[in-house]
This record gives sequence, structure tokens and C-alpha cells, in this order.
Amino acid sequence: MPVPPPSPPLPPEPADRLAVRLAARLPSPLVEVADERFAAHGVRLLLKRDDLIHTSLPGNKYRKLLPNLAEAVRGGHRTLLTFGGAWSNHLRATAAAGRLLGLATVGVVRGDELAGKPLNASLARAAADGMRLEFLDRATYRRKAEPEVLAALVGRYGPAYVLPEGGSNALAARGAAELGRELVGAADVAAVAVGTGGTLAGLAAGLGDGAEAIGFPVLRGDFLAAEVLRLQQEAFGGRRGRWRLDGRFHHGGYARTTPELTAFAADFGARHELLPEPVYVAKMLHGLLTLTEEGAFPPGTRLAAVITGTSTGPGGPDASGGAR
Ligand SMILES: *Cc1c(COP(=O)(O)O)cnc(C)c1O
Repeated sequence: MPVPPPSPPLPPEPADRLAVRLAARLPSPLVEVADERFAAHGVRLLLKRDDLIHTSLPGNKYRKLLPNLAEAVRGGHRTLLTFGGAWSNHLRATAAAGRLLGLATVGVVRGDELAGKPLNASLARAAADGMRLEFLDRATYRRKAEPEVLAALVGRYGPAYVLPEGGSNALAARGAAELGRELVGAADVAAVAVGTGGTLAGLAAGLGDGAEAIGFPVLRGDFLAAEVLRLQQEAFGGRRGRWRLDGRFHHGGYARTTPELTAFAADFGARHELLPEPVYVAKMLHGLLTLTEEGAFPPGTRLAAVITGTSTGPGGPDASGGAR
């Protein structure tokens, strides 16, 4: 019997092609660490090293951007336009993505007090990657999703694929769902820091009902649960997975810290040779340890802490304030 010729491979999905072009390290490593404070409660601590996915697009920023980049390329867009504070990891990641993929980028920065001043390290990195920066006064920035404000930006910079602040939209949540899928069967609880909620929305959906996702907001306010739910509705058609927020660990608000948190982060860094990124990751780890010490997890629980960002190094976030 002649063997039938193999059928030609299907053309890869645009997102898969982009993933290859960007040379991402996926799935990200999952590493168990020995920590007596967790072990005392019979709990195992695993670090989900999303910070190692890509040097210029670390962590959840890669996962959230990828489907949006594929959509922008598919739609023939030449420019990405997005929004963020002066220290935004999302702005910097978008600028890097534009450089790597040959797309122009425009970053709309909250606050016009920075216009004409020397750029901070984060914005300087974005500008070096070719991002054009537009500084909006705070009143106009608050209205950034309104048609007139967008129309003015498009009038100035030309047609663009527009990403919301922090990059969280339905496609971003779907991209982050891959993070949850990578943890299925390997973790009973997954913990993540929450800024705009897109990563938690996807993580919980990808995990499904076999594990719980806990989000630790890094900023004050009660709006995030509604926001996560809205993103899940837009991305998946309804509430997905088992998730909750624990709002006790913002340490004063976005990019703020307390002596307790600073000491906790330094100690964690010394124990595990991994200094936690201060704006997001340290707050999540501190929350996770506190919950463990409160007896929230039965013995044998496998806790996966998602390391969404890096603390130092070129392109790394900075602790000195600003916004997402
Ligand atoms: C942006 C960011 C987050 C928050 O992600 P959201 O999807 O906005 O909730 C968490 N950790 C790090 C390191 C980030 O840069």
C-alpha cells in the first residue's frame, strides 16, 4: 500500500508567527523554591517565571500584547497608539514591540507637566525604541477613550491600532489565558499582582475550575472586581474560573511602599536570589505569605506565584513612582 503523502501543514496563526519572530521563551519556567515560612504550613511555593519570557517584553506584557499585535498586523495597521503613566511598563513594552515588528508607536503619557523636561529612564527607553510621546494634561487624559480625544490624536499621528491604558482589553485577557493553561494540573492556587485586571481575567479563565486565582491589587479602590468581570465578559462571554481579589496589600497605593514591604522584598531577595519587582511582584508575594500564615491554604496546596516582572536590568521597571 502506498503511503499517502503527508498533508501540507496549515499556515500558522498570525499570533504564532509573531511569537516565533519575537523568539519568546514559552511556556515560561515553573520553579519550586524552598521557603520555610510556607513549608511550616505544609504549603509548596512555585514561581511562575513570566519575567523570563522576553528581555524587552517581559511577563504579562508579552502575553497581553501578542494577540493585539497579531490583530494590528492582520488589519494592516502601521502604527500602535496607547496610553500610560510616566513609568508605565506597558508603554515601554509597546515601544519595544513596535521596534521588533517594524510598527510605529505613539505613547500618550498622563500629565503634561513632563512635556519639554528630560525624560525619565522608562520614557527614554521607549523613545529610544522609536516611540513618539504625547503628553496630555490630566483632565484630557481622563477623557482619553472619548471619540473627540481619540480623533484629535489620530488627526495628529495618523490612523493607528489603539490599545487602552495598561493594554487590557478582551484580546489581552485571551492572551493572558495562556498563562492559566500553562498552570493547569501544576498548581492549586495561582497568585498575581493586579494593575488593570487583564492578567487576572485571563489567568482565571485559563486555569478553569481546577484551581483558584487570587489577585492582589497594587492600587487602592474597589473598582477592580467589576473591571476583571467586564474583561472576562468581553473576552470569554461571562465570568470564568474561580478568582477573587484581596485588597489588603496595596501598601498605600500605586508605586507606594511601606518599610514593611521594603524589608519583606529585601529578605525575599536574599532567600531566593530573586529581588522582587517592587511595584507589583513584591506586594503579591507579601500578600501570598500573609494568607499562608493566616492558614488560608490546606497542607499540600501548591501555590504558583506569577513573577510578572523584573526588578532590575535594562528595560526593567523602576520603583520611583509613576503609573502603569
Ligand atoms: C502591568 C503589570 C502588572 C499588572 O497587570 P494588569 O493586567 O494590568 O493587571 C503586574 N505586574 C507587572 C510587573 C506589570 O508590569
